[in-house]
Amino acid sequence: MKVYLDNGATTKVDAEVVKVMNIYFTDKYGNASSLHGFGREAREDVENARKVIAKSINAEPNEIIFTSGGTESDNLAIKGIMEYCVSGKGKNMHMITSKIEHPAVLNTCECLQKQGVKVTYLDVDSKGFVDIKQLKKSITKDTVLVSIMHANNEIGTVQPVAEIAKICRDKNVLFHTDAVQSYTKERIDVKEMGIDLASFSGHKIHGPKGIGFLYKRTGIHICPLINGGGHELGLRPGTENVPGIVGLAKAVEVSSKVDLKNMKKLRDMLIKELKKIPESILNGPAEGRLVNNVNLCFKSIEGESLILHLDDKGVAASTGSACSSHKLEPSHVLTAIGLPAEVAHGSLRLTLSKYTTEKEIDYTVKRVKDVVANLRELSPLWKGGD
Ligand SMILES: *Cc1c(COP(=O)(O)O)cnc(C)c1O
Repeated sequence: MKVYLDNGATTKVDAEVVKVMNIYFTDKYGNASSLHGFGREAREDVENARKVIAKSINAEPNEIIFTSGGTESDNLAIKGIMEYCVSGKGKNMHMITSKIEHPAVLNTCECLQKQGVKVTYLDVDSKGFVDIKQLKKSITKDTVLVSIMHANNEIGTVQPVAEIAKICRDKNVLFHTDAVQSYTKERIDVKEMGIDLASFSGHKIHGPKGIGFLYKRTGIHICPLINGGGHELGLRPGTENVPGIVGLAKAVEVSSKVDLKNMKKLRDMLIKELKKIPESILNGPAEGRLVNNVNLCFKSIEGESLILHLDDKGVAASTGSACSSHKLEPSHVLTAIGLPAEVAHGSLRLTLSKYTTEKEIDYTVKRVKDVVANLRELSPLWKGGD
């Protein structure tokens, strides 16, 4: 049996998405900026896709900027705002983010710090929720932007973004959220929630890799990261990725049919069974958790060897984020929620999709129990169990 439970890293592209994309490689291959029929056809389909995508978050079509994905959207939002504001605010620019952001946000902030921007990294509690009091206290007259992710990619914590956005708006500070993990899984209404900028990606929602978008509320000014033609309001020049854009819209469309209740049921089965393993802890909250996320630590177990042994049994899992899995340090997220390094090394992230079945969950539970028991038997650190 082969079980893919690494949907936090990427997802299988939906067959309907592949089908519609194919047309744009073979027949409708025009450049959306061309004046002839091929071009006009591509333009029309890009703009229709933009409408579908805008509607999915209650935005206006001209508030959607297509990018290459979540990473670029995060960069465009954060660097774009800070660069635009240099002219107004000058040297004393300040922004606020959290300690558990995706590297696309954290490393962007680090880059800006080198250029003189002051950055506050908010603490999170043991479940991964940002410290709201600290946020309120951290906002100064120099604060330009607050960037807090909607759902965490490692431990699934869903932040109260509407509450955070309101705090920002009351203090006249812009609010950006990385909504890559929550998109199509949590309700996102940018107007109602008061979000100014938000990042999204195609390949986490059964769309293609290399396409995503930034939502930018009308009236907010940002600088482009690259220069070129006038595409995407001049904020993201370069010939539109028409197959990607149309595929992304189709992925959004088909996502409305997903049975999130069932996904949650399977997630909770998995959590309940894996928590029965001695000396295991659930990372992240029980309530306010992303519907497809499971993350546990098993004492005296190396996360990496757990993943490799599970891979041997056909179960594709992760220790945390795919982006940091080649590093030997424990995850910055698990460190931020207060886990000691030796515990944080033993983490296992299992992320479900609409294709995950109960049979796969049962199989996975058995394999994880076996592998943990076997590894512990071999571990000099493990004293329990006999
Ligand atoms: C995957 C992910 C990203 C990066 O998106 P790409 O499209 O792969 O660049 C950014 N933020 C979060 C929270 C993610 O999970």
